[in-house]
Amino acid sequence: MINPISNFSFNFTPFAQSQNRIKTDVQQVLTNPITRPKLPQPTTMMALLYNNISFTGHREDLVRSIGHVSCPCCGTKMLTNGDMEDISKELSKKDTAEHYINTLHPYEEYMHKTEKDVFHKFEQWGKENPKGTLSNFLAENRESSMKACKDKQSEVFAKINSIASSISSQAGEKFANLTKVYSNTPVNNEEDMKTVRKNILSDIKTSKSIINNEEKFKELKTLADSLPTSKNSTDAFIVRYAGKPSEKIGTRLVKLSVGTIEHVKPQADGGRDRIENYLLECGECNHTRGDVSLKDWVEEHPEMKENTQKYFDEVIEKINNNELGRELDNYPNAVRGALKEQSKGTLTYDTSALKPKTDERPKKSENTDKTDKSESSKKPQTHKPNKPHKPHHHHRLNLAA
Ligand SMILES: [Zn+2]
Repeated sequence: MINPISNFSFNFTPFAQSQNRIKTDVQQVLTNPITRPKLPQPTTMMALLYNNISFTGHREDLVRSIGHVSCPCCGTKMLTNGDMEDISKELSKKDTAEHYINTLHPYEEYMHKTEKDVFHKFEQWGKENPKGTLSNFLAENRESSMKACKDKQSEVFAKINSIASSISSQAGEKFANLTKVYSNTPVNNEEDMKTVRKNILSDIKTSKSIINNEEKFKELKTLADSLPTSKNSTDAFIVRYAGKPSEKIGTRLVKLSVGTIEHVKPQADGGRDRIENYLLECGECNHTRGDVSLKDWVEEHPEMKENTQKYFDEVIEKINNNELGRELDNYPNAVRGALKEQSKGTLTYDTSALKPKTDERPKKSENTDKTDKSESSKKPQTHKPNKPHKPHHHHRLNLAA
């Protein structure tokens, strides 16, 4: 007689492809209520089988617990999942402009540039329409925003044609034809704009040999990148979300600022689920980078060097102030190897501000330092670092959609 339990656990692996391999005889035993052995409850089973994944979750949570620091990629201050829950809950209570503005205002410094611009316009509009809604605001502006996007497209095409014709008559002719076709393509929504942008970007890449000039090639690419999408243009944002419920639009204004786990070495290339392979990165940068290698990404976004230093400076400050779990004490140094390897040595940063940790941590006086305790679960505040950072400019990434 077979032992159904050992047979079952032997065959059942976490891989979906193996799930069908349970032998028929075992299945019969399992489905027959008389012979069915007592198996652990599903939740226990899942915990046993997937316990490696739950450890990963723990490590990801550790890095997420760093909380409100600047995105190492774009430099935007990041929000936590807890903030997002608070915001959604608050927005769901009432949808007047007045309530939305009061709720979202404290998170303004966490918004990306486009979202911040939309919010500012909405704030202005809300002064005159306090009982209106965010959804009304977008609907009212959809038509003029659609026109603004089309104007922007014509403007970019004209610049592309001018650069192309300065390269050679062949390049000039090619891009004149392409932009003519795209100008005649009906553009009625943000999806259409994204398609045009994607096509012209791909045309530029495949015309590299005709362009035959690295500077001009980059200029053309930057121009095509600037074609409106909901990520880089207020008008395209309005076009995209007009008609959507206020709550969806309101949460969208802050959602992409939530810190997410970025695998420095992609999992597909064997990158491990360890804190030494994690960066906390805003949702927008994380989603946009896709499969672009870190080396190419740093090259396209040179501001990442400065922002990475800012990220580690802020993390180090939290470690020095004992605001983070002890497992993160060496995190700024631990992730250096992966960053160096993946960026081919172009992404370096200084961690000399990290104070060595002794076993005996100074005990925080309970009366004086209460405020640091659950920093990441609190409402965000403007954190003035103790150590002055070098002044930095707020760069806006040219984000590919
Ligand atoms: Zn970012």
